[in-house]
Amino acid sequence: MGSEPVPVAVVEDDPNIADLVDLYLRQAGFRVYQANSGERGLEVIAERRPRLVILDVGLPGDVDGLEVCRRLRATSDIPVILLTARDTEIDRILGLELGADDYVTKPFSPRELVARVKAILRRADGPRPTDTAAVLAFGAVEVDVKRREARLDGTAVPLAAREFELLQYLGENRGIALSRRQLLDGVWGDDWIGDERTVDVHVRQLRKKFGDHLPLTTVWGVGYRLD
Ligand code: CA
Repeated sequence: MGSEPVPVAVVEDDPNIADLVDLYLRQAGFRVYQANSGERGLEVIAERRPRLVILDVGLPGDVDGLEVCRRLRATSDIPVILLTARDTEIDRILGLELGADDYVTKPFSPRELVARVKAILRRADGPRPTDTAAVLAFGAVEVDVKRREARLDGTAVPLAAREFELLQYLGENRGIALSRRQLLDGVWGDDWIGDERTVDVHVRQLRKKFGDHLPLTTVWGVGYRLD
């Protein structure tokens, strides 16, 4: 992070939550732009060009958080953290393939949220590893690390940032059964406090996108292995 404060948008209609998140982010050195509706959020994001968006799913009016995420993804790969009201919503939200980068269930610790914001931005900014093969290939699936592009039979497959990183990590550890905890540490980072089902939902997305072409095996009682 440079000396200029990094702009982050917080789209949340509950003023208590918005102000709390705002406070913690500012204390961590971010510049915060708030919006209390989906429409306003899209305007603020277009005007202020934040580096990351924290987005409440349950927003009033016609444009809820899921719709905001969908519209953002149509034109941009800006990192998005969704705030969801209930744990059970996460599977449903992931099923919609919105391409959010992370999910935080209310009530949440603002400190943890800030840690995730930092981790995502670090990943987005960080130099890509150069000691790894430029293109990992498994059957018809290719992971082009330098271009940050996944392909199936030569055609690019759009992946959310975490999906790409999970696929890359599995590919770099090919043939090794990895536990969910190892995958969380390797892909989400040590500061990740979320639960291990996050891995399962991301794996489900990868399987949905690549189908049988992805030689990914569920290792019962352990986790996953890419062959
Ligand atoms: Ca709300």
